[in-house]
Amino acid sequence: MAGSPETAPPGYENLEPQPPTPLPPPSTPLLEIGQMVCGSCHQLLCYLRGSIHVQCACCQTVNFVLEAHQVGNVKCGNCSVLLMYPHGAPSVRCSSCCSVTEIGPHNTRQLVSVQQGQPAPP
Ligand SMILES: [Zn+2]
Ligand SMILES: [Zn+2]
Repeated sequence: MAGSPETAPPGYENLEPQPPTPLPPPSTPLLEIGQMVCGSCHQLLCYLRGSIHVQCACCQTVNFVLEAHQVGNVKCGNCSVLLMYPHGAPSVRCSSCCSVTEIGPHNTRQLVSVQQGQPAPP
């Protein structure tokens, strides 16, 4: 035995360990999808959060979306401008004339899933 230092055989390559590729952070903004049941044909509908109404693809009925954070519409008692208020608010202040309009059943348009017999006009 000559005792020569052992050399790396040909073909041996110092393969550097591949660093694990980090997964991309799940920062992709997902559109929030809500679900509701069509008031007419009870088909499950999907809608984007924030939508006011969603049209049923089955029977073309336009269903109003009502959620806890839904805003309602009320006309200002002073200048009759259409105001939006968070659902459940007792009153809303007009952004135009700064008068406070109380919200009651007399001036609100309840958007509870009304059943509409005829399809909405285009
Ligand atoms: Zn429907
Ligand atoms: Zn006003």
